[in-house]
Amino acid sequence: MIEADITIKGSVCLTMDRDLTVIEDPFIAIQGERIVYVGQYSNTIEQKYLSKKEISIPNSIILPGLINTHTHVPMVFFRGIADDLPLMEWLNHHIFPLEMKFVNKEMVYWGALLACAEMICSGTTTFCDGYFYPGRIARAAMETGLRVFLGLGFFDREEDVEASARANAETAKYFIEKWQHISPLVTPALFPHAPYTCRPETMKAIKEVAEDYRTLFITHLAETKEEVEIIRERYGLTPVRLLSSCGILNERTLLVHCNWLDQEEIEILAQSGTRVSHNAESGMKLASGLSPIPELIKKGICVGLGTDGCASNNDHDLIREMGSVAYAHKLVNRDPTIIDARQVLLLATREGARALGKEEEIGSIEVNKKADIIIIDTCHPRLQPLYNPYSQIVYAANGDNVCTTICNGRILLENRRLTTLDLQNILKEVERIACSIRKEKL
Ligand SMILES: [Zn+2]
Repeated sequence: MIEADITIKGSVCLTMDRDLTVIEDPFIAIQGERIVYVGQYSNTIEQKYLSKKEISIPNSIILPGLINTHTHVPMVFFRGIADDLPLMEWLNHHIFPLEMKFVNKEMVYWGALLACAEMICSGTTTFCDGYFYPGRIARAAMETGLRVFLGLGFFDREEDVEASARANAETAKYFIEKWQHISPLVTPALFPHAPYTCRPETMKAIKEVAEDYRTLFITHLAETKEEVEIIRERYGLTPVRLLSSCGILNERTLLVHCNWLDQEEIEILAQSGTRVSHNAESGMKLASGLSPIPELIKKGICVGLGTDGCASNNDHDLIREMGSVAYAHKLVNRDPTIIDARQVLLLATREGARALGKEEEIGSIEVNKKADIIIIDTCHPRLQPLYNPYSQIVYAANGDNVCTTICNGRILLENRRLTTLDLQNILKEVERIACSIRKEKL
């Protein structure tokens, strides 16, 4: 007999491994934080394991936990507060003033908890965040049991170019030293906001620190056409060329958005191994643009999916996001074959893991990988009849169809019940803070 902490049985498992193996009647065993067995169910296999917890959902799709490569989780507080506006008006007259007034440690903590609850309920097990007070976001993630890439944001505030770069580099070092060994679920990352808010000197200094510690360097890039023009006017180069000239592009750089790229820039990204976080719903809602990811993928560029913050999405549901990604590219290319459901699911799982440099640990259901697993209950009118599980997830399901979420071998959602969070208390605290925002806003 082999001891297991959790065993899982279901009707089909999309492993998302290198061969994209699909297992009918799967059986999975978890010991501690890792997967120790995955294969087809049989009586003999099941009898080998003495399990503390057996999960058996007869009509279900089992898949790796989803990976959200771009969030600003406390922005849940700005969900639906300023929609349907031109981008600059939205940002300068609504989001920035709200942030100036309401962002504090308490707001960040409760917003992060609400977002974590939302992500667990919709099947996300890893998120990569960038916001103020990242310590509070880490605390929320650790309490909930989710895996987080904790991005520390940077802006150039000082006039002195060298002093600002030096100060930011010092802060970056301190931040990584502080967070790198706190928890196996927390990975620090450095997140200079964008090339229009951080000068090249600052970007370079932060990238040097990131390389010293082999840490992920993240920045928003080429989100809008206007941004490309601003950077060209300021530095005589487009955003990708600017970062390339600073030596910033490599496989530990994650560029968020990349909506406006020319052919040569796509080549630069491919040659340098740079990773891209694609945020389709955010780009569509703000009409800022849509990254040409079918082309990026063809060139071998690693692309993960992100929801972006809730002011521009307005949710953290990666299952819905996957549908939007597929629909958007089919429409703009006027080609329904340009991307299929299986490719899109790959972006939300294994490729997402690769975008964050964690492909050895997460992103697929394989022996020795971390047990980040979700289960979709297909006993639902929306999900029947079932012919093709990839299609069902991307085109028919939404986050509410996730019934079980396991991260690092720990059950965070069971029969749609959150196991690590007191949702009623979170909702109460969120409403208390939202009341003050509402008073100001309405
Ligand atoms: Zn963003």
